[in-house]
Amino acid sequence: MAEIIGPPSRVMRWCCTVFKTGAITRYVDSLYKNKPKIIVFQGIRHSESISRSKYDRESDSPKITKQRVVSPIIKWTDFDVWLYIFTRKLDFNGAYKLGFSRVGCWCCPNNGFWSEFLSKVFHPEQYYPWRDQLIKNAIDIGKKDPEEYVDSGAWKAKQGGEGIEYAKNNVVSFEPCALEENSFNYELNKPIDDNLYELFKPFGKINFDLGNQRLHEVVVMDKNNNIIIKLQGKKGDVHLKVSILTPRLAGSKNFKDAKRKIECQITKFQMCLNCSACMSVCRFDAIKIKYTQNRLVYKIDENKCVNCFECINHYTSGCYLKKVLATRDGMEGIKDENKI
Ligand code: SF4
Ligand code: SF4
Repeated sequence: MAEIIGPPSRVMRWCCTVFKTGAITRYVDSLYKNKPKIIVFQGIRHSESISRSKYDRESDSPKITKQRVVSPIIKWTDFDVWLYIFTRKLDFNGAYKLGFSRVGCWCCPNNGFWSEFLSKVFHPEQYYPWRDQLIKNAIDIGKKDPEEYVDSGAWKAKQGGEGIEYAKNNVVSFEPCALEENSFNYELNKPIDDNLYELFKPFGKINFDLGNQRLHEVVVMDKNNNIIIKLQGKKGDVHLKVSILTPRLAGSKNFKDAKRKIECQITKFQMCLNCSACMSVCRFDAIKIKYTQNRLVYKIDENKCVNCFECINHYTSGCYLKKVLATRDGMEGIKDENKI
C-alpha cells in the first residue's frame, strides 16, 4: 500500500488513487514487468451509478495507462448478479446481508444516507470516530454549523485544499529574469535535492558536468546532445533559476507551453506525497517513488523512460495532488498567475 504523509483528514477525496490505483499499479508492475499493455477484467455495471452508466464495455484505464479494461457484465442488472450468485452458490460479502447495497472500502459506501444509517447501527465503533473527524474538518474550514454540515451530507461536495495548511505551505513564487528571456527565478518552499533533477529526466538527459559549476548549473540535453534546459541552483538552497532554450520541449507549442510543463515538474518536486498517480500513468514502469528514512525519493529510470511525457501531460498541473488541492477561490493551493 502507498505510504502517505500530509493531510490525513482529506485523504477521503483522493483515497481511490492513493489506496487503490497506486496499490494495483505496484502489484501489476511486479507481475508484468516491462509489459506496456495488459488486459484487466472488472465487474463494473451501468446500473451501479449515473457516472458508471456512461462507461464503455472496453476502454483504456484513465488512471493506470498500461491497463485495457474490459467489463463483461456491464449490462447486467442487480437481479442478474444475484441470480448468478445464488444459482451457482457463490460466496459473497456479508455486508449485503446487513442491507448494504454497495460494498467497498468502509468509507465509500457511506456516501449514501441509507449506508450511513446502517453504519451507525452495525459499525458504531467506526462510524462515530469518522463523524468526529468530519466535524473537525468542518471546523477547520470555518463552517458555521459543523454538525449540520456533516449530517446533511454537505461535506461530500468537493472542497479541494480549502483549510489545508499543506496547500498554503506549498505555494511557489516566481518572477521572470530581468536579463534573460525565457529564464525564470523560482523561490521554492523545499530545498533543492536530487528529486528535482530526477523530475527533469522526461525532458532529456541530465548532465551535471557541462553547466557552469561555479553557478551550480545542471543542464538537460536532447537526443542530439543539444542543451535544452539549464537549471541553476545549489543543493540545499530554495532559489532555482530555469532557462528554457527551446520552445519545442516535451511536445510544447511555444515557450509559454514549455514553461507550463516545466512547472508541472517543479510542482511535483514541491508537493509530492507519493499518491502514486503519476507513477500509474507511466506505461513503461520508469517511475518509482518511495520513502527512505522518512524522506521521499522520486526516481525516474532513464533506461526505461521513452520520453512520452504522459507523466507531465496526464494531469493539467502534472501532479494529481495539486488538482485535488485546488480551491474555488484560488486563495489556497498553488496559484497560476504569479505563483506556479
Ligand atoms: S508527484 Fe503528485 S501525482 Fe505524482 S505521486 Fe507525487 S503527489 Fe502523486
Ligand atoms: S510517463 Fe513517459 S516520460 Fe514519464 S517517466 Fe514514463 S516513459 Fe518517461
